[in-house]
Amino acid sequence: MKLFDVYPINDITIEKGAGSNVWDDKGTQYLDLYGGHAVISIGHTHPHYVKRLTDQLQKVGFYSNSIRIPLQQQLAEKLGKVSGKEDYQLFLCNSGAEANENALKLASFYNGKKKIIAFKKSFHGRTSLAVAATDNPKIVAPVNETDNVVFLPWQDEKALEAAFKQYEVSSVIIEGIQGVGGINVASESFLQKIRSLCDANNAVFIADSVQCGYGRSGKFFSHDYAGINADIYTMAKGMGNGFPVGGIIIAPHIQPAYGMLGTTFGGNHLACAAALAVLEVMEQEQLIANAAKVGSYLMEQLKQLPHVKEVRGRGLMIGIELPEELNQVRKDLLFKHKIFTGEAKPNVIRLLPSLALTQAHADQFLTAFRDELLKY
Ligand code: PMP
Repeated sequence: MKLFDVYPINDITIEKGAGSNVWDDKGTQYLDLYGGHAVISIGHTHPHYVKRLTDQLQKVGFYSNSIRIPLQQQLAEKLGKVSGKEDYQLFLCNSGAEANENALKLASFYNGKKKIIAFKKSFHGRTSLAVAATDNPKIVAPVNETDNVVFLPWQDEKALEAAFKQYEVSSVIIEGIQGVGGINVASESFLQKIRSLCDANNAVFIADSVQCGYGRSGKFFSHDYAGINADIYTMAKGMGNGFPVGGIIIAPHIQPAYGMLGTTFGGNHLACAAALAVLEVMEQEQLIANAAKVGSYLMEQLKQLPHVKEVRGRGLMIGIELPEELNQVRKDLLFKHKIFTGEAKPNVIRLLPSLALTQAHADQFLTAFRDELLKY
């Protein structure tokens, strides 16, 4: 059987990882500033993570959600403590799309309304409602097309107010920092505006934190910069450091009905062990503060480099916009300098490294990047 390649792939086989480095099958070492698309939050093969998962696998890896799994409650408590959202309820699932799917459904169940406000260039996943709220016609099939989703221009307060007047809005879904859309940071005032319009209209504020959440921005949720609370936060990616874990946290005024939320695999013993290990390491090693510190250092330094048109982001979620003639630089960073980066658009390099990235790693990248830029 032939494998369907879901992405254009680089012909590299990764066999080993440790911290912010990975090695290919020939033993070549790479610096990983992509983190497998924002998934590697605490670094590759962190010893505490490996031990917690291995120990759990030796006890019990899976049973089912029809029995009590104390690890789930431990995870909810830890997550409440680290995120500061202690009065929320946690529902565990397996991916970002599933988290958004459930959040959008739950919002509509809660207020009985249908219209969803989403934004241009948003990305919320590839399942039914999540893809309908994603601004990318390439990945929507006819069956997902729904007139329940209204796409508004990014950060346009007037359009937002008008949409609330025109429609019975069920929910607004927004990434605190758009990831796939090119690293666009939502302003504090825009997030506050959404909050006040949702309050005034009994609409649900859904903070898609799948990519920008979990400490990546230098705060637990990037929406925290605006000093507001969303009604539902959706999470995945960095939550399990590579083990598939997703979840939503739900504010106390929203009470899901029994049977509405559920999944076979969500919250299994291994997933909880992985997610707990991530939060434990984040706390012990103060990784959120590290993301803020190393991230702002990196952004400041990047702004000084030649040809760099714009540097956007927060913490360790950074977009570097280059002139289009420099689209080759990302490939050269990989093949000549052995540095993995991500792409937001062909001319926007996206950095999504482990939150444990050191200043020395940042400097290694800056030196290589400067060398390449100076060739133009
Ligand atoms: N929301 C955002 C903001 C994302 O970046 C992604 C994945 N790129 C998703 C949702 C979907 O997550 P998953 O691939 O785990 O379904």
